[in-house]
Amino acid sequence: MRKLTMMAAAMLSTAMVTPAFADGHLKITDEPVEFTVHLHNKRYFYDSEWPVEQAARAMTGVSLVGATFGTNTPSSAEAHNLMLASGDIPHIVGGDKIKDMVNEYGPQGAFVPLNDLIAEHAPNMKAYFEQYPEKMAAVSSFDGNLYYIPYLPDGKYGRAYWMRQDWLDKLGLEVPTNVEELHTVLTAFRNDDPNGNGLKDEVPFFVRQWQELLRLVTLWDGRSSGSDTAHDFLVQDGMIAHGYAGEGYREGIKNIHQWYNEGLIDAEVFTRGSTAREYLLSENLGGMTHDWFASTSGYNPKLRDKIEGFDLAVIEPPASISGVQMAEHRRIPVKPDGWAISHTNPDPVTTIKYFDFYFTPEGRRLANFGIEGTHYEVVDGEAIFTKEFMDAGPVNSQLYQVGAQIQRGYPQDFKYEIQWTNPSAVKGIELYDAGDFLVEQFLGVAFNEEEQGVYDKNWSQIRTYMLEKQQEWVLGGGIEEEWDDYMATLDKMGFNDVLAAMQSAYDRQYN
Ligand code: CA
Repeated sequence: MRKLTMMAAAMLSTAMVTPAFADGHLKITDEPVEFTVHLHNKRYFYDSEWPVEQAARAMTGVSLVGATFGTNTPSSAEAHNLMLASGDIPHIVGGDKIKDMVNEYGPQGAFVPLNDLIAEHAPNMKAYFEQYPEKMAAVSSFDGNLYYIPYLPDGKYGRAYWMRQDWLDKLGLEVPTNVEELHTVLTAFRNDDPNGNGLKDEVPFFVRQWQELLRLVTLWDGRSSGSDTAHDFLVQDGMIAHGYAGEGYREGIKNIHQWYNEGLIDAEVFTRGSTAREYLLSENLGGMTHDWFASTSGYNPKLRDKIEGFDLAVIEPPASISGVQMAEHRRIPVKPDGWAISHTNPDPVTTIKYFDFYFTPEGRRLANFGIEGTHYEVVDGEAIFTKEFMDAGPVNSQLYQVGAQIQRGYPQDFKYEIQWTNPSAVKGIELYDAGDFLVEQFLGVAFNEEEQGVYDKNWSQIRTYMLEKQQEWVLGGGIEEEWDDYMATLDKMGFNDVLAAMQSAYDRQYN
C-alpha cells in the first residue's frame, strides 16, 4: 500500500496532473498478481521496465514478468518453436504472428478458449467485438473458439499512387484519370525530359517492393492480392479466388510487359529493391510509384530544397479499362499478432481482465501514446505528442522503446499516426476517402486438419510456379500463348483442391 502511494505521488509530481487512474477504478486485483509472458518481435522483446508496463502495473495491480524465448533470433516463428519444444509455455504468449500457432494448438489444449471469459469478465472487449463481429470471426479457430486477442490496426489506407506533380506541370499535362491517359503521361515522362537535364534518364514508374508492380494489373481489371499480404487469395461475393488465375490478370500482365518493353517501367524493377524510392526520388529520376501514404509523403519536405519545385502528389487510382478505380491495398483491420492465455496460466479470469484493460479508454491511450506528461499532453481531450518527443526521432521506434504500439492485443488509434504525417499524405487520404476506392478484403481462414493437409501439400509449390511464370511474362512476354497450359498446370498441381479447401474453411468461419 505504502509503495503504491509513493509511486502515485512520484507520478503526480513529475506529470503535474492527476492520473486518470488515481481513484483506482482500473484496479483488477487488491493483491499484486504476476504472470510470465513470452512476447517476441524482430525489433523487441517484452520488457517489464518499459514505462508503459510500469504504468499498467500501477493502474491494474497486475505484473507481467518477461519470459520470452528466442531472444537471440529475429525470427518470431523460430522463437515460437523453441517455446513449444521446451514444454514450458509462459502464462501469456504474445507478439508477432501468433495466430496460426494458437489456432492450431489451441484446440489441442495448449491455449485457453477466450469466448466465455470475454463474455463474463471483459466488458470492453465484449463491446468491441459486438461492434465488429467480422474481426472476431476472422481470427477464430476452426473449432469456432477465439484463442488470442489480436492487435487491431486503425486507419483504412496503406499505399497510394504517387506522381511528380511538378513534372506534369512542366510538360503541360493533367493528372491521368484512366489507363490510356496514364500510358500517355508515362510515355511523356520517358521522352520529354521532365527533369530537364537533357538526358533520357527518367524512370517513369518504379517501386521499391517489386510486388507493388503487380498492382498495375488492376488497371486491366485483374487482381494481385486480396489482403495486405502480397499474392494472397481474395474473396468476391463470398467466393474464394486467386488473382493469378483470372482473366484480368492475363490482360494486365500482357500490358505490363508491353509497358516494360516501352521503357515505362523501371528496367531493374525486380532487382533494385528497397532503396529504389530513396534513390530515384532524390536523384530526380522517378516519376510515379505505388507506396505508403505516410512514409512517401516525407520526401516533399526532405527534397524541396534539393530539387527545385519538387512536388510528389497522391493521385486517384486511374480508372481501369472497364472504368473501375481501385485501391487494392489497405490496412488489415485485424493482425495475426496479439496475445493469448496458455494452459499453464493459473488465473485466466484475472488475465482476461488485464487484457480488457487495454480496451478501456485509459488502457488504449497508454498502449497507443505512452505516458501523459512525458510523451504526450492532453489538449482538448485528445492525446497530442509533445514537441520534444516528436523531434527526438522516428515516432514509431521511439514508441516501441517505451512499450507503446507493441504487438499486444489492443485497438490502435490512428490519431497517433496522423500527428506526424506530412500534409501531402493527409490530403491524399482525403482524396481516397472521398473516392471510396477500397475493395472487399480477405481476412484469412482457419483450416481444420484435412484442409490444412491439402493446403500444406500443394500451395507453396503452386505459388512458386505462379511467381516464376509471372516474372518471366513481365520481362519476356508470352502470357497469351501460354495461358491455357498455365491454367492446366495449376489444376494438375492441385490449385482447385486448394481453392476448395479455402472455400470450405471460409464458409464455416464467416457464414
Ligand atoms: Ca532527363
